[in-house]
Amino acid sequence: GNMARAKAAAADKEPWWKDSMERLRNIGISAHIDSGKTTLTERILYYTGRIHEIHEVRGRDGVGAKMDSMDLEREKGITIQSAATYCSWKDYKINIIDTPGHVDFTIEVERALRVLDGAILVLCSVGGVQSQSITVDRQMRRYEVPRLAFINKLDRMGADPWKVLNQARSKLRHHSAAIQVPIGLEDDFKGLVDLVQLKAYYFHGSSGENIVTEEVPADMEALVAEKRRELIETVSEVDDKLAEAFLGDETISAADLEEAVRRATLAQKFIPVFMGSAFKNKGVQPLLDGVISYLPCPIEVSNYALDQTKNEDKVELHGSPDGPLVALAFKLEEGRFGQLTYLRIYEGVIRKGDFIINVNTGKKIKVPRLVRMHSDEMEDIQEAHAGQIVAVFGVDCASGDTFTDGSVRYTMTSMNVPEPVMSLA
Ligand code: GDP
Repeated sequence: GNMARAKAAAADKEPWWKDSMERLRNIGISAHIDSGKTTLTERILYYTGRIHEIHEVRGRDGVGAKMDSMDLEREKGITIQSAATYCSWKDYKINIIDTPGHVDFTIEVERALRVLDGAILVLCSVGGVQSQSITVDRQMRRYEVPRLAFINKLDRMGADPWKVLNQARSKLRHHSAAIQVPIGLEDDFKGLVDLVQLKAYYFHGSSGENIVTEEVPADMEALVAEKRRELIETVSEVDDKLAEAFLGDETISAADLEEAVRRATLAQKFIPVFMGSAFKNKGVQPLLDGVISYLPCPIEVSNYALDQTKNEDKVELHGSPDGPLVALAFKLEEGRFGQLTYLRIYEGVIRKGDFIINVNTGKKIKVPRLVRMHSDEMEDIQEAHAGQIVAVFGVDCASGDTFTDGSVRYTMTSMNVPEPVMSLA
C-alpha cells in the first residue's frame, strides 16, 4: 500500500513509480497496407506470450514443439481487436496502440498519435517506400513521435533492404542508418548481426523461435565494420558526445553507442533501421529489444495541457503519478459489457471506485471497473498510474474528453501540434 511505498521511496530516495515507469513503452505500428503491420503485431503478441490459441497448438504438439509458419498462418485472425493491447517483454510492459493507417489528418488519427510515445514504421523490403508509408511517416513526424524503421519481408524474392534504407533517406528524409546487417537474404535469410552489440543472431527452425547468439561470421567482418562505421558517423552528425569520441578516434563501446542511438532517436534526429521477416518470426525479438533500448518511456516525452482556469494557458505535465489526475479518453468502443473507454493517464493515479471529473462536460463520474486489455483477455485492475493506458467501463463521455480528480481543470486535446494542414501533398 501507500505506507510501504512511502517507506521504500524514503529508503532509496527514488520515487516508488520510477522503476515501473522506466519499464513501460507505449508504441504504435504504422505501415503502408500489405507491408506486414498485422503480421508483425501478431508475432509480437505471440512472443510476448499473450495469444492462447498459439499456446494450445504448441501443447498439442508436445512440450517444446515448434510451430511452423503454416500453423501461425492458420492462427491469423486472432489479431488484436482492441484500441490498445498490453503485453510483456522481458521485464518490460508494452502497450501497442492501434493507429489508423492511411487516413490523413483526422481527429481520430490525431488522438491515436497523441497517446503514443514511440512507433515502428514497417517498410516492405521489396515494395520499399510507398504512398502510405509517406503519409503515416508524415503524421508521426508532425506529432513528434520518435520511431524505429523495420524493413520487413527479407525472405521474399527481390528483397533489397539497402535500397529501401536509401529510399527512406531520400523520400522520407530520414536521417537513418542500419542497426543490423542481415545474414543471407531471400530463401537464405537466416540471421542478423547487431551492429551495436556486435553479435549475430541465427534463427533456427521454420518458426524462428529459437535464436542463437554467436560471434560475427568471419566472412562478414568487413561488411559489418563498414556498416558499424556508417551507423557511428550518421549518429555522430546529430550527437555531440558520440561525435567527440568518434573524431577523437576512441574505440566506441557497445554501451556508448547504444546510449547515443537512444539519445538521437528520442530527440527525433535519428531513425534506427531494423530488419527481418515478421511472417517467419525472424527479427521480431531483436526488434522488441530495440523498442526497449531506443524508444522512450512515458516520462521521457513532454506532454502539455491547456489550463481552463487560466485562459487556456499551456502547462507542461510532469508525467508522474504524484500529481493530480489528468487522463485523456482517446477511444470509445461498444463492447459486450457496455461502453468501454480507453484512457491514457498523463499524471496522477486512477483507482477503481474513484470519483473523476470530466473537464469537458463538468460531470462527476465514479469509476466502476478498471481493466487492461490483452490480445485475448481483459484483466481487472485496482489502480493504474501516469504513463499507463487503461480502459474503464460505464463511463459516459466522448472521445477526446479529459478527466481529472477535480483539483485542476486541464484539457488534453489537440496539443503539441500546429494547426492542421489539409493538403500536404
Ligand atoms: P498489413 O496490411 O500491413 O497489415 O499486412 P499483413 O500483415 O496483412 O501482410 C500482408 C501480406 O504479406 C500477408 O499475406 C502476409 O502473410 C505477408 N507477409 C507479412 N510479413 C511477411 C514476411 O516477412 N515475409 C513474407 N514473405 N510475407 C509476409
